[in-house]
Amino acid sequence: MTHYDVVIIGSGAGGGTLARHLAPSGKKILILERGDWLPREQPNWSAHDVFVDNRYVSADTWYDGRGTPHTEQLHTIERWTRLDLGRMENKVTIDDPGAYSKPFVVTINATQTPGDEVMEYICAAGNYYGQGTLPGK
Ligand SMILES: Cc1cc2nc3c(=O)[nH]c(=O)nc-3n(C[C@H](O)[C@H](O)[C@H](O)COP(=O)(O)OP(=O)(O)OC[C@H]3O[C@@H](n4cnc5c(N)ncnc54)[C@H](O)[C@@H]3O)c2cc1C
Repeated sequence: MTHYDVVIIGSGAGGGTLARHLAPSGKKILILERGDWLPREQPNWSAHDVFVDNRYVSADTWYDGRGTPHTEQLHTIERWTRLDLGRMENKVTIDDPGAYSKPFVVTINATQTPGDEVMEYICAAGNYYGQGTLPGK
């Protein structure tokens, strides 16, 4: 039986990046990848479809940190509203007839503490920033 030091399940953005960083360590790494579930289609390139309408949810059933379920029927819609200079509201509508009797809304409020620096968030949209986020070529 082959021995591996590290087993990474999934070769997506997280797993692939981890493997890339661990490669120079000389550890024996096994990556297990189950294969594509994502359809290749035009809405892949729509920020609204991907990030607001959350079009792509895998059919896997999983539980969040509180044990809240989700099924393959889950449809979520996120709405971000800037209330004023220091406050943002994120309203998430969760509709999952497989797990809940009716849709419900979770509201998350983000408040900036005066004096705190707002950290930069870089989205790799279009992969223009890819070379900067991953070491190597
Ligand atoms: C259409 C689309 C466009 C996007 N565009 C952008 C963008 O422009 N910019 C941006 O920053 N983000 C974008 N995102 C979001 C970004 O892709 C995700 O945030 C990121 O891929 C999440 O990384 P991850 O490693 O958590 O999961 P994933 O990248 O989804 O990787 C998980 C991997 O694990 C595998 N896997 C799952 N279960 C198992 C199992 N049991 N056994 C083996 N393998 C398994 C899956 O097949 C998959 O390859 C986009 C997402 C989608 C769907």
